[in-house]
Amino acid sequence: MSSGAPPTIPLSLQIYNSYVEDPIWQRRFTAIWCSFLGATIIISLPSLVHALRQGRALTGFFGISGGSGRRGYSAVMSEEKKPPAPSLSRGRKRAAYWDSLVSVRQWTVPYLNLNAGQIFVLAAYLASCLVCIIKDAPLISSPNRAGFLAFAQFPIVFLFATKNSFLSLLLGPGHGYEKLNFLHRMAGRVMFLAALIHGSLWIRNHIQYGLPILGPQKETSGVASLVMLGSIVLLSLRPIRRWFYQAFFALHVFTFVAFFVCVCYHSIYASPWIFPPLAFYGADMFLRLLRYRFKDATVTAPDKFMTLVRINDCDGGWVAGQHICLRVFFSGRVLESHPLSILSAPPAYSCLSNPGLLLGARVNGDWTRALNTFVRKEQEKLVPTDEEYK
Ligand SMILES: Cc1cc2nc3c(=O)[nH]c(=O)nc-3n(C[C@H](O)[C@H](O)[C@H](O)COP(=O)(O)OP(=O)(O)OC[C@H]3O[C@@H](n4cnc5c(N)ncnc54)[C@H](O)[C@@H]3O)c2cc1C
Repeated sequence: MSSGAPPTIPLSLQIYNSYVEDPIWQRRFTAIWCSFLGATIIISLPSLVHALRQGRALTGFFGISGGSGRRGYSAVMSEEKKPPAPSLSRGRKRAAYWDSLVSVRQWTVPYLNLNAGQIFVLAAYLASCLVCIIKDAPLISSPNRAGFLAFAQFPIVFLFATKNSFLSLLLGPGHGYEKLNFLHRMAGRVMFLAALIHGSLWIRNHIQYGLPILGPQKETSGVASLVMLGSIVLLSLRPIRRWFYQAFFALHVFTFVAFFVCVCYHSIYASPWIFPPLAFYGADMFLRLLRYRFKDATVTAPDKFMTLVRINDCDGGWVAGQHICLRVFFSGRVLESHPLSILSAPPAYSCLSNPGLLLGARVNGDWTRALNTFVRKEQEKLVPTDEEYK
């Protein structure tokens, strides 16, 4: 009998264990984007601290405030509103140089609707996805890696989809969901591509070995998940968003829930990846609840192209240019809410806002047109008839 270490199988002869190797790449990918996000938050810290000092960072975080009886507009020349004296200190100069340097990221590429900073982020994201999918993976014989990487996109898809997130707060003012949403769209497409690679290669292998593609639970739920994901991507294309926004939104939510159910039946490795999306969605709902307000408003329509909404009794909690999601209880359209930018600064800064905030809704589609028509009809009722004049 001989003793000693057992013989090791040479690497080239070892069978690739997808369920051991692929989750490692999933975690690597997650570590890469989390580190990138962490670095971005650290780089944004000075601007967050600056905004905190100026009292801007938390403005609007808890929603619009009203009825606090705070004092209204005071002239710009009052002592506390005097602009800071210009200073040429070294710190300010350095900050100016830094601002000019980082402003390069705002260069926008024509027809792409993306700026240089966003393109860089997308390129880095796509490169890391690609490396994590193909590095040392025998994709043809075992295409699981692409499926595992599709699961790893869930947190990104939801983190950048939610309209109210703590990430926007950490990145400082000017980083609302509308600025971060491009990553949600790209992560969704990458998730679909990864799932498509995984699914199509499995189907190829099943055909090669004469195995059923539909019937067994794993296969059927896999095909159903791929169909759901494909539908989400197709239903999110720009023309659909542009022309049927409400239908797009309802189907988007419905198909994602259906996709989650299918994918959990398809693989036991899916369920842990569903918790971060649920947490982000829960935080979104919680923040939305904190920001919800029921307010009286005065609505006027100067013509058939524009409707002005003056929301009364608001004295703070917003900055001019920030947007709110407006829901108006008219003509059975309670379920719709639409983003509109605030046209006026808070009452303490602007006499326009006394005593509320101002929104302008340009007639653009069915909701804005219906609101405009409704308001004009109501206005007409208020105009005295000839008989009433007499
Ligand atoms: C951050 C932000 C700020 C905005 N500020 C203003 C503003 O100050 N004044 C103004 O007139 N318009 C503003 N808009 C556009 C306004 O939200 C749309 O014109 C309005 O929602 C159109 O609705 P609709 O049913 O009339 O038209 P639809 O035909 O349904 O849509 C017309 C366009 O608006 C988009 N849209 C529709 N509903 C929504 C929604 N709930 N969320 C996001 N986009 C939607 C559609 O994708 C489409 O491109 C803003 C949009 C955003 C994203």
